This record gives sequence, structure tokens and C-alpha cells, in this order.
Amino acid sequence: MNLKDHIRGVPDFPKPGILFYDISTLLRNADAWQVAMGRLAKLVRAHHPDILAGVESRGFLLAAPLALKLGCGFIMLRKRGKLPGPIVALDYDLEYGTDRIEIQADAIQPGQRAVVVDDLLATGGTMAAGIALLRKVGAEVPAAAALIELEFLKGRDRLDVPFEVLVTYD
Ligand code: 5GP
Repeated sequence: MNLKDHIRGVPDFPKPGILFYDISTLLRNADAWQVAMGRLAKLVRAHHPDILAGVESRGFLLAAPLALKLGCGFIMLRKRGKLPGPIVALDYDLEYGTDRIEIQADAIQPGQRAVVVDDLLATGGTMAAGIALLRKVGAEVPAAAALIELEFLKGRDRLDVPFEVLVTYD
């Protein structure tokens, strides 16, 4: 199966001039979602994760079923102010301004192997921040993974761990 057949490019979203890759069309097709999760599970399993960390919000849709498949726990990397209890935060730069992601302070046991999962890698800023935040709370990060990579943005170069992906656009 070619997963690209199930990913829709939406022009001018969320701003004029941006082509947004929409994974809703993949998720609503049971076979495509299953095939995607099977392929990603195979790639991620090779890094022997103890836990998968999903990036809010579409990363959750992939990381949670993947964690079940791999027999791992699942944790959330969330936007500001969403997680209850003590949290650890990390601010990172965007093209204009900054953003923040947060994790529950006790989400990771020291030395646990956590793989970060998101739907798409663009500039790599979000994924790099996820990796840094996991390390901040004591995780070892053996790899990162996504469904889609926008290769021309070279986000992979900003990651210092192996990056696993199913579909690339250039
Ligand atoms: P980056 O930080 O790598 O520049 O951007 C990646 C983040 O933006 C991911 O969390 C991803 O969900 C979101 N994102 C950026 N562009 C797209 C897109 O075209 N499609 C989807 N599904 N997400 C995108």
C-alpha cells in the first residue's frame, strides 16, 4: 500500500502559501491506519523503547496505538498549562516568537528509553524540543519517529538521534 494515497495535501492552510499535509484521511481509513502503525512499529521496535512520548496533538493519535502494539507505556508532551500536577517545561524558538512544551515531572523513570513520536517533521524544532525535554526529566532518547517528513526543510539535521519515517515529500 502507498500511504501517500491516503494523505491529503490542503493548499493555503493554515496560511496562504502553505501546503498542509492532512492525516485525517489516513486515520479514517482502517486499513491505511493499520498498515501505517504496523510499519512504524517495526521501525521503532528496533530501538527497544520502554515508553513512547507523543507530541500534542496529532502525535498522540500515532504514539498511543503504537505503544499498545509495542507493549510500551505512553506519555504526553503537551502545550502550556494542560497537564495536572508538577510539570517540567521547555521553551523553544519558532520562526516568529517562542513556544513551550511540558511534561509531567514524574513521567519518566531515570534511564528509561523514550522514543518521541509526532505526525510530521517539518523544520524539526518541535521534535528537537521533545527530545530535549525528555532528557531534562532523565530519559534516554534512542530515536524519534514520524509518519511524514518534509525533506526539503532538513529538520532531520536538527536531531541528534536516529529518525524513523514512513513517507517523505521533497
Ligand atoms: P516543525 O517544528 O518540525 O517545524 O513542525 C512540526 C510540527 O508542526 C508537528 O507537530 C506537526 O504536527 C505540525 N505540522 C507542520 N506542518 C504540518 C503539516 O503540513 N501537516 C501536519 N499534519 N502537521 C504539520
